[in-house]
Amino acid sequence: MLLYPFVDKYFLMPLADLVMHRGLSREWRFMTRLDMATEQQLRNVQNQRLQALIQHCYDNVPYYTKLFNRLNLKPADIQCREDLQKLPVLTKQMVRDNYNDLISLDANKRHYQKGSTGGSTGTPLKFMKDIPTWNMQWASSFRAWEWSGFHVGERLFTLGGNSLVNKRKLWTAKDIFDVVLMRNMKRSSAEVDDAAMQAHYEAFMKYKPKGVRGYGSSLVIFARYIEKNKLPVCPVRLVMTTGEILMPEYRETLERVFKCRVMDEYGCGDGGLDAHECPLHDGMHIAEERCVLEIADKDGHVLPDGQIGHVLATDLGNYVFPFIRYTVGDMAYIKQDKCPCGRQSRLLGQVIGRAGKLLYNKQGVPISPTMLPIMLYRDNDYHNEANCVIYNKIDRFQIRQDKEGDIRILLKLKNPAEPQEQFAYCVTNFENHFVGSKVSLEFVDSIPTMPSGKEDYCVSEYEYK
Ligand SMILES: [Zn+2]
Repeated sequence: MLLYPFVDKYFLMPLADLVMHRGLSREWRFMTRLDMATEQQLRNVQNQRLQALIQHCYDNVPYYTKLFNRLNLKPADIQCREDLQKLPVLTKQMVRDNYNDLISLDANKRHYQKGSTGGSTGTPLKFMKDIPTWNMQWASSFRAWEWSGFHVGERLFTLGGNSLVNKRKLWTAKDIFDVVLMRNMKRSSAEVDDAAMQAHYEAFMKYKPKGVRGYGSSLVIFARYIEKNKLPVCPVRLVMTTGEILMPEYRETLERVFKCRVMDEYGCGDGGLDAHECPLHDGMHIAEERCVLEIADKDGHVLPDGQIGHVLATDLGNYVFPFIRYTVGDMAYIKQDKCPCGRQSRLLGQVIGRAGKLLYNKQGVPISPTMLPIMLYRDNDYHNEANCVIYNKIDRFQIRQDKEGDIRILLKLKNPAEPQEQFAYCVTNFENHFVGSKVSLEFVDSIPTMPSGKEDYCVSEYEYK
């Protein structure tokens, strides 16, 4: 093991924990020990943590005390994740309506942070986050990075929006964590012009990071800039993408430009979920020790593995503002098979919608954002070479669904002089999928980015009711 990561893991982190009253290094060691645990061992840890959380909620959190009493339930009725179905799902609206009742009565004795989800995923949601859940989140990420050969304490370069990068004048414990323990250079991806990219590039080359982390779409803008200008890249061991669906072509670009593998992770800041790819890249390992992830229908009934449904999150570390069966707004499925790498955690299959991104036709059928690029091929056929020729004339695209459910296809062509009629088939493709929606095709000079700097190829304001 390298010197700094070794000193970091065994001396600096434990020292920081002691001084700052956190338990990150202990949780990290705990999760590392469980890395190759049997399914039963993982179950035991999950059950113990779930039972403790439920007891706490019943005793200390007014919202849950009332809920349990109304349903005539006692904490002992919830022993394992299957028992969670006795409780209803918790929606964002319910969190807003019951904000004060969701705060634990012993909050003043706890060490917590205030959090809120980014506006780019819909209406921001305010919540509170306990230190134990913060520990668990980082511990599960650290463990997963090590699977792919990146060690905490090696230089990390992060490009992200507001949820990944904070601008503050004074040094806080968080800054010490970022700079000394994580050696994390954070840069904001809010600006996406060439001047900003050049500044990122210069900082990147000077810093010589071993790991790069950020939103896939933000990193891909940076990677395209490097590629377009034929700039040399210092050797990087791992690119870690987070915060949104990683489009397959984004992964290809990042792997080509940074000349290393991309490890995608799925997390949700509010619900306390974590899942990470292992080097086999065949789904994401759910951090079962830190959360309960359920896939359920819209009424909260758990679906069999392999079936797509709503992602429900129970955060096993957040005692100050507990999220139990919280519907995060994404859809996904759990794979029926375990990963050949030997880890016994369940594998999350492809996530088919980040909060606010999933589209619906007017009959209420969800349409995966990953389907949208396919609809830009004539006859939805991307194996046909002639179709690929037309598709490749598109530089960027964005599909926007408005409040009424109508669709705007924005295309930025590589050559603006290209005849536009040849793309008319796109309208038919989209009309066939978005039954009942009005579809329009527009040719634009640039694709709008989100306030956070994310490049969203899919923007939806439509909610099927
Ligand atoms: Zn695996």
